[in-house]
Amino acid sequence: MRAFTYERVRTPAEAAAAVMLRPGAKFLAGGTNLLDLMKLEIETPSHLVDVNGLALDKIEATPEGGLKIGALVRNTALAADQRVRRDYGLLSRSILAGASTQLRNRATTAGNLMQRTRCPYFYNTDQACNKRVPGSGCSALHGFSHQHAILGTSETCIATFPSDMAVALRVFDATVETVRPDGTTRVIPIKDFHRLPGNTPHIDNVLERGELITSVTLPEPLGGKQFYRKVRDRASYAFALVSVGAVINPDGTGRVALGGVAHKPWRVEDAERYLPSGAKATAERLLAGARATHENAFKIALAERTLAAVIVDAKKG
Ligand code: SF4
Repeated sequence: MRAFTYERVRTPAEAAAAVMLRPGAKFLAGGTNLLDLMKLEIETPSHLVDVNGLALDKIEATPEGGLKIGALVRNTALAADQRVRRDYGLLSRSILAGASTQLRNRATTAGNLMQRTRCPYFYNTDQACNKRVPGSGCSALHGFSHQHAILGTSETCIATFPSDMAVALRVFDATVETVRPDGTTRVIPIKDFHRLPGNTPHIDNVLERGELITSVTLPEPLGGKQFYRKVRDRASYAFALVSVGAVINPDGTGRVALGGVAHKPWRVEDAERYLPSGAKATAERLLAGARATHENAFKIALAERTLAAVIVDAKKG
């Protein structure tokens, strides 16, 4: 690990300004991904700004009937919150489908959104990877691509974004609130937060330098039956090959988003009009434009079948 300096800050604006001030500075919250990346020297921050002392660890009701989740709320606390379990069961289930108890105890809401891809070539510094070293190439394109994306890919990167929680947030149309180094704030719809790779796969999301996530807000509850079905290579502690987050109403209408297929939760609102017609009609629109490698073509059929299983479950009493 490279040497770095460290400081604690007292306010979100102070944190944002501290990162802006020093090139190479990063925020430190739960550290469950960042510290691993630092040990591998994939991330080499010269300075860490520890935000754990900020008062961003509450879940509060909003005047609009939703919930405002502080950026530092731990994944375990969020999944266990009674209001989340009652009104946003999909969110609770998606969080519990990820990582391990120990990691969820430490990982934060904002950190979950900021985690990096789990593409194995990104973590192997002997291999070319445009996300780690821009312009170096993509080892996954002609290599091991079992886990990789089938939607929104480019010639430079086919990585997926690994979060389960983000899939649920996309179904609910959550927003991400931030503060910039100059103290101004903004609200980013979750659908716009993560970036597809294009020609700049090293840029994961739309945050500006020094911009700090302060909260994530859920709109008022959707009702309906809520599902998070995750298919993976082993039963626990693995990332999704395909996951389906869905809210299904008694009349068969609803919302659906996929995980494990793109570098962002994948939702196509127009496809949802076909939910009452079944998984095949919906998947045809949801997966339109899918481009698979010889190793991950199975994800196209797997996504449709996983959605079909969710729809069958929704019809049960
Ligand atoms: Fe790197 Fe993306 Fe290629 Fe993986 S898929 S090797 S993260 S450029």
